[in-house]
Amino acid sequence: MDKDYYDVLGVQKSASQEEIKKAYRELALKYHPDRNKAPDAEEKFKEINEAYAVLSDPQKRTQYDTYGPDKFGQRYSQEDIFRGFNFEDIFKDMGININFGGFESSEIFGNLFGMPQAHARGDIGQNILYRMDLSLEEAVLGTQKEINIRHVKKCQSCGGSGGDKGAKMVQCSACHGSGYIAIVRNSMFGRVQTMSACARCGGRGKYYDKKCKVCSGKGGVPATETVEVRIPEGVEDGMRLRLQGMGDFGKDGSGDLYVEVHTLESDRFKRDGDDIISEVSLPFYTAILGGIVQAQTIRGKHEIEISPGTEPGKRIIIKGAGSKRFRHGGYGDHVFIIKVEIPKSLSPEEKELISRYKDLNEKHHDESRKKFGIF
Ligand SMILES: [Zn+2]
Ligand SMILES: [Zn+2]
Repeated sequence: MDKDYYDVLGVQKSASQEEIKKAYRELALKYHPDRNKAPDAEEKFKEINEAYAVLSDPQKRTQYDTYGPDKFGQRYSQEDIFRGFNFEDIFKDMGININFGGFESSEIFGNLFGMPQAHARGDIGQNILYRMDLSLEEAVLGTQKEINIRHVKKCQSCGGSGGDKGAKMVQCSACHGSGYIAIVRNSMFGRVQTMSACARCGGRGKYYDKKCKVCSGKGGVPATETVEVRIPEGVEDGMRLRLQGMGDFGKDGSGDLYVEVHTLESDRFKRDGDDIISEVSLPFYTAILGGIVQAQTIRGKHEIEISPGTEPGKRIIIKGAGSKRFRHGGYGDHVFIIKVEIPKSLSPEEKELISRYKDLNEKHHDESRKKFGIF
């Protein structure tokens, strides 16, 4: 289950914006990785920021309250959550003074949150994360799913170039075509010069003299699209499937879509690595006398042979009837665990039969005692 944002910030569900802000401020100061060197501080810091990014935005908060942590996590990617969330402004606003050592905080946070740095490697679209719940059967056997994703899609009007019809490429006047601007900053390490991508041309050194009116020159437009996702058999809980190029559009290449699968619990089966485990209930007389019973593996019906005198808890293994071994090839096993049903109520006739069995058994015992001289 996804973390509850209210728990992360340690506030009540009914908390006011002021209370949320106060809680965030305290936690952000405590866990900022520049100050807190504990190994889990960075992870904690991310969580706090994610929680605040959602709960400080009335619209996102309402959605979160409506859908709950799991569903919200499926609908919103990290990029969605942090969209429009400016750390530097927020920190300044709260009077938190963090020395970023001459770097833009966005660079630091960008790295921290694993977001692609557009200017560092051209205009590559962002990756998108989608969380998907699967039944155990779907995860083991594989399936095909349709999902709706919101992403930036190539602008049809300009074909992704960002230029208007008849527009010409011209050299950028701000960086004289180099794509970079040198910035000198004062930092804790003294004066540092960093090369920063030119904001005017986005680091490309040139641009169209007339921008496409549909995408304002970006080359991409936001859109909701339905995507077919093939889930291969044997996927494990938490595994991420990569759909190359299905993320946000970028002029130098589109980002990827990651589908993170989560397996729901099943009433009938349990998964233990590549093995599938289930219980088989036997009438007590079958456990005693033996026989053939119908049982169900995740792949369908299966007849199993019960040998006479089978004890409860015995394991019967069907080789290769489990989950596909994702990494090593081949299949795991199905493990049946035997349960024995003891009848709770008996008809007078049944009761008489069992009593008769008891008498016979005791008589047999008495005889063997006498025989061996045990009293
Ligand atoms: Zn366009
Ligand atoms: Zn430029």
